[in-house]
Amino acid sequence: MNVADSEVVVSILSDAGYSQTENIGDAGLILINTCSIRENAEQRIWGRLKALSHLKNRKNNVKIGIIGCMAERLKEKLIETDKLVDIVVGPDAYRELPSLIAESEAGHKAVNVLLSREETYADISPVRMDKNGVSSFVSIMRGCNNMCAYCVVPYVRGAERSRNPESVLKEVKELCNMGYMEVTLLGQNVDSYKWNNGSEVTGFSQLLEKVAMVNPLLRIRFSTSHPKDISDELLYTIARHGNICKHIHLPAQSGSSRILKLMNREYSREGYMDRVNAIRNIIPECAISTDMITGFCTETKEDHEESLALMEWAGFDFAYMFKYSERPGTRAARKYKDDVSEEIKSERLSEMISLQNRLSLKSKKNDVGKVFEVLIEGASKRSDQYLSGRTTQNKVVVFPGFGLKTGEYVNVMIERCTSATLLGKKF
Ligand code: SAH
Ligand code: SF4
Repeated sequence: MNVADSEVVVSILSDAGYSQTENIGDAGLILINTCSIRENAEQRIWGRLKALSHLKNRKNNVKIGIIGCMAERLKEKLIETDKLVDIVVGPDAYRELPSLIAESEAGHKAVNVLLSREETYADISPVRMDKNGVSSFVSIMRGCNNMCAYCVVPYVRGAERSRNPESVLKEVKELCNMGYMEVTLLGQNVDSYKWNNGSEVTGFSQLLEKVAMVNPLLRIRFSTSHPKDISDELLYTIARHGNICKHIHLPAQSGSSRILKLMNREYSREGYMDRVNAIRNIIPECAISTDMITGFCTETKEDHEESLALMEWAGFDFAYMFKYSERPGTRAARKYKDDVSEEIKSERLSEMISLQNRLSLKSKKNDVGKVFEVLIEGASKRSDQYLSGRTTQNKVVVFPGFGLKTGEYVNVMIERCTSATLLGKKF
């Protein structure tokens, strides 16, 4: 999400005559795009600011700006207590950046953190910042209307707004023309995407279908689905189109219905299992990944064990796992006590990580001996003799690259694996 936002910002600033530099020492303006989702994300930004202070001391005219969610959440603190920061701009005010920079150059503090009900940056063509030229992100909506008790997103990114499908299709076609082979459609809850043009309502299934039909060689991914909203109609759409990737990221957060209720996720353990069963029935080859939180308020050993059991039952192919981090202003911070000790959160997290490592390995082992179509993304991290790409299930595959090119599809026979990577050779 932040990469997609940074690309919008670069586009706005390029139109205003700015250009990017690879060398921070040459920069006249440094913008840091920030995330507030967990406390450690914010801690890293404070550390980054501290590290930049020497630059500011050496070069007094360099301007430093904080943009994104942390700007929204901590505007006063950033401007008042941190003399280093000249510009503070929230996620819905990027169009104002050129005038705010000018204001800051005139010696004023430049702040705009107004959230909008309409802004989707639909007409802005993001300047691509990815390095491989193969896969790219397309934002289809902004903000979130769900009120998960632990989550700061609705406060810092505002209410949900969907983007006009025509502008999404235009951007996807442009990416295709530039040679991109994969797009990921992004939103906090893609299943609630909705656009009404007066005569026709476009939901996420229809949008996804339209995007898939732009070019059958273009791979389509999307994130994030919400278990309370993901419909059978969407699953049938995914099953129908060969170029819609067979991977769904379906954050469970917890396996305990009691905790899910406290989290205000609006589904139960059984509700989540029902959606996994539907995926397995309608798209048998589909990979499923998840997000899990350990140590949410009042979580007992039994609740935690229910989370582990759900993971084991679902056999997730991949998971992001986090310790609960209380965020000021959220419903959980206002109403519940953050009463699971740091020590127990850490213990539960490592237990969860070792379980997931085992599940990831099992999922990869299942692929050994099979052939997969892989979209090549570039040289592997370890050696430029090897290439790396992904299967439709989003699993990373590494294989000898002789005679093959980035951006091509290749069939790879899987010979070995680790818990993170499949290894094979051209079939
Ligand atoms: N909109 C997406 C995810 C947004 S944030 C969804 O609803 O699934 C990405 C992940 O960060 C969440 O799925 C959750 O697992 C985690 N997360 C969000 N707030 C958190 C918090 N306060 N503490 C720990 N993890 C959190
Ligand atoms: Fe946060 Fe819930 Fe919205 Fe995801 S759906 S962004 S977790 S409030």
